Amino acid sequence: LFAGGAEFLKGVVAMDGLPPDDRAEVCFAGRSNVGKSTLINALTGRKALARASNTPGRTQEINYFTLGDGHYLVDLPGYGYAEAPVDVVRRWQALLKAYLSGRATLRRAFVLVDMRHGIKPVDEEIMALLDTSAVTFQVVLTKADKVKEKDRDRVLRQVREKLSKHPAAFPEIVQTSSEKGQGITTLRAIIAGLA
Ligand code: GDP
Repeated sequence: LFAGGAEFLKGVVAMDGLPPDDRAEVCFAGRSNVGKSTLINALTGRKALARASNTPGRTQEINYFTLGDGHYLVDLPGYGYAEAPVDVVRRWQALLKAYLSGRATLRRAFVLVDMRHGIKPVDEEIMALLDTSAVTFQVVLTKADKVKEKDRDRVLRQVREKLSKHPAAFPEIVQTSSEKGQGITTLRAIIAGLA
C-alpha cells in the first residue's frame, strides 16, 4: 500500500470537487499543530507531501493523496485555529459534515491527538460529528516522544475514558512519534487492513 509512495491528487473545497468514490479511503483529522502533516509524511515516506504547519489559507481544503495501490489518503483541514474567521470556520464545518456523512467509501477516520494534551473539547466536537455520521474513528496519539514514561498511563486513561462515550470510537489507541518513527509501521498496517 505504502511501498509505491503517495502522490498529491487535489485539494477539494466543495463536495462536487471530490474525486469519484470508486475506492476505499481513510482520512486524518486533528487540531492544527497536532503533527498531522509530519505524520502523513512519515507514513508515506515523503518529505514534503503534506505541507507542515498549514497556513490558515489552506485550512479549508480537503487534500487527497493517492497511495501506491490507488487508495486515497485524505488530509482534512486542521481545526481549532484561534485566529480563523467565523465564516471560514462555518464553511469548513459544513464541508466536513457533508464529507463525513456522505462519503460511502470512507473506511475510517484517524483523529490525531497530541499526547501531551490529551483529548480537548474541540476534539470531542469532531468525535461527536463522527458518531452521528457513523464513521468509525481511531485515536492516534502524536508526539509520544515528548511525554515522559511516568505520564503515559494518565494520558491513556483520560483518552480511554473519553472514548468510552463515543459509539463510533474504535477502542485501540495508536501511540506515535514521527520524530522517533514510533507507531508508523503499526499505523500503516492498520490502514492496509482497511483498504
Ligand atoms: P499539523 O499542523 O498538524 O500539520 O502539524 P505539523 O506536522 O506541522 O507539526 C507541528 C509541529 O510539531 C512541528 O513543529 C513538528 O516538527 C512538530 N512535531 C510533529 N510530530 C512530532 C513528533 O512526533 N515529535 C515531536 N517532538 N515533534 C513533532
